[in-house]
Amino acid sequence: MSVIDRPKLTLPGGADRLLLHSCCAPCSGEVMEAITASGIDYTIFFYNPNIHPQREYLLRKEENIRFAEQHNVPFVDADYDTDNWFARAKGMEDAPERGERCTMCFDMRFERTALYAYEHGFSVISSSLGISRWKDMQQINGCGHRSADKYPGISYWDYNWRKGGGAARMVEISKRERFYQQEYCGCIYSLRDTNHHRKAQGRDIIRMGVKYYGDEEYEQNPASASVIPATNV
Ligand code: SF4
Repeated sequence: MSVIDRPKLTLPGGADRLLLHSCCAPCSGEVMEAITASGIDYTIFFYNPNIHPQREYLLRKEENIRFAEQHNVPFVDADYDTDNWFARAKGMEDAPERGERCTMCFDMRFERTALYAYEHGFSVISSSLGISRWKDMQQINGCGHRSADKYPGISYWDYNWRKGGGAARMVEISKRERFYQQEYCGCIYSLRDTNHHRKAQGRDIIRMGVKYYGDEEYEQNPASASVIPATNV
């Protein structure tokens, strides 16, 4: 299926504006292009206090801003309130991915998205989070609905962005745009666990800020990139 074969999307309940939570440029690229192609009026809401360290957070955010500007899509740069995120993650530091810490993490991001939607005249929220095959879509949708239900008049759009070739186009667009390719989910615990896993496999640990989609030179010789290794966890 090519880009032009996407189905025309409509918002639930006949709504005419969408607040789209975005986790990063690679995940939101296809989601944004699908929404744009359907003529839906939407705004990006970037609220991801889970991403650590800050330089990784800024890298992911800047990529997303660049792409939003390219499409003339309004971009709301929300707080990087990491203290709140760490407070809520207390006691869940060793939970596995897709476990209780991730439920907390999705809840927190959706709660802020729903609040912003409520205060700024949006009636529908959604997120790019579910397009990644690494994520549990049911878990994400549960968090999205639960957060939307806290505010009257707000609903969560649980559209499956992976279907109809969406997952493949996500990679195509990322390569076309040469997006920064993050190598861990986002929080410091996912960085720690991914590095442990890599070490156990005899692989190099994550080096931030070096890997970009479509970068064949890096793929062939990753050791050639000069970066600061992520050894802080
Ligand atoms: S692994 Fe990902 S979804 Fe889970 S808590 Fe960490 S950043 Fe959030």
